[in-house]
Amino acid sequence: MEVGNVVEVEVKGAGRVKNTAVAGPEQKTENRATGTEIGGTMQVQSLGHATFMLNEGKDRLLFDPWLARNPYLVGKTLPELNPSLILTTHLHGDHFEDAVPLAKKYDVPILSTPEVARHCMGEGAKVIRVHLGGREFFPFGTVKAVQAFHSCPHAVGQTWRVEGGVPCAFVVEFHGKRFYFAGDTALMMDMQLWAPVDVAFLPIDGKMVMPPEDAVRAAEFLQAKVVIPMHWRDEDPNAFIKLLESKTKAKGVLLQALETWDVPATV
Ligand SMILES: [Zn+2]
Ligand SMILES: [Zn+2]
Repeated sequence: MEVGNVVEVEVKGAGRVKNTAVAGPEQKTENRATGTEIGGTMQVQSLGHATFMLNEGKDRLLFDPWLARNPYLVGKTLPELNPSLILTTHLHGDHFEDAVPLAKKYDVPILSTPEVARHCMGEGAKVIRVHLGGREFFPFGTVKAVQAFHSCPHAVGQTWRVEGGVPCAFVVEFHGKRFYFAGDTALMMDMQLWAPVDVAFLPIDGKMVMPPEDAVRAAEFLQAKVVIPMHWRDEDPNAFIKLLESKTKAKGVLLQALETWDVPATV
């Protein structure tokens, strides 16, 4: 494992912590100052809970950023994220809390549904609006917003309000591979519409989202080749993977916070 740049971020309640960029053995980072493009390995990195990076070269997609108060990151050394695009599925804090600060810090847009995007715009962030069923084109491929069966309130103080519109999931065509990022959702038949997918990120916590047995059904609906469990709270992700691999053809990849997975060319 290669250690790169050192940065500092504020972790609420834990003071300032030193964070060290971490790259896989073959992945190299882009020097934004010089615009030098280096590397090319496709890689997924967990940042804990439901926050992930999907990287290849200059294209660095950050999903559902929750960093400063993410309990899986307490005391951990964070990478220099350097995202090129931030995607957020809904306004619950564990999927959204750091989206606007990071969009401003890196001067990159947030892609989400119109109401979420409008909220972000009001906070001073650049946005890309894609409503359910719509898609946007990028040099790496496309991002499509699809339905999620959940809620999307905009919290004002302690009061939940409803201006958040609807939550979404993402179907991302990324350098020739298809990823499904569920965000938070219950199981639904509509997942079959997006099959087959190469890699599915599925929540499994069973209280706020679908339980492991439903996530296995989701993997079947999606015809996923690889499933990365997330958002497991009190559930055991290893038990989920065992169940998944006993019931489906999918392979489970468990990523703890800051662990990376090089996406095989043949996935
Ligand atoms: Zn949620
Ligand atoms: Zn959540």
